[in-house]
Amino acid sequence: MAFAATVLTLYPEMFPGPLGQSLAGRALADGIWSLEAVQIRDFATDKHRSVDDTPAGGGAGMVMRADVLASAVDLVLERQRDAPMLAMTPRGEPLTQGLVREIASGPGISILCGRFEGIDERLFEARPIRPVSIGDYVLSGGETAAIALLDACVRLLPGVMGAPSSGEEESFEAGLLEYPHYTRPYEWEGRRIPEVLRSGDHAKIAAWRKQMAEADTRSRRPDLIERHGGARRRSPSGAQREDEG
Ligand code: SAM
Repeated sequence: MAFAATVLTLYPEMFPGPLGQSLAGRALADGIWSLEAVQIRDFATDKHRSVDDTPAGGGAGMVMRADVLASAVDLVLERQRDAPMLAMTPRGEPLTQGLVREIASGPGISILCGRFEGIDERLFEARPIRPVSIGDYVLSGGETAAIALLDACVRLLPGVMGAPSSGEEESFEAGLLEYPHYTRPYEWEGRRIPEVLRSGDHAKIAAWRKQMAEADTRSRRPDLIERHGGARRRSPSGAQREDEG
């Protein structure tokens, strides 16, 4: 069964967008996954096809209505009973590679894309929708966030990436950023590829890569070390490594 993605959006024409190209696009054409964009406005009930209204309590902008969204959500949940539904929102839990793997290993995903100031909170209380954020910044709509999430999931589906192992050593898989990469030419603007990578000694190369991954993670993403480092830093006896300071 193909991985089935459904996106609820006010801009269905934004899909597949970049997902129609390269790896994801080929996989879509090959039927490894499917994509349906559902127009939320089709579920409006008034003659103006309104999907939003002014914020309760006052303030700028408009808020997406729970009643209109619920009609769209219910139809999709009914059709795709086994697939979880997420809503893209900066107020959600952060998207991680772990969550991406969890979604990619399932039957599919439904994604609700917000616009305006966001979604009436009662929808999250009344329906099984998991709020997810792609980072600590504010986009103008959930569509680009949904595209990022789908791209991350689709590349993990069996048959999408060339070598099945290419996902295993990547950033975040071991709680670390990936090691740095180099390719020809050997020398560029006076900079040479590190000698160890030309040694042909696979054990040495693996050790160097691990060291680089740890050093780069420590300097660029100390939060990852903080979150995942504890388990790695301790030996089986529970003793701490010397470099812990
Ligand atoms: N007023 C909202 C706030 O401050 O939390 C921002 C609303 S934003 C302009 C409109 C929509 O873009 C959101 O409802 C959400 O669907 C999407 N969006 C914006 N930033 C996002 C992020 N970091 N992750 C996921 N979705 C995001």
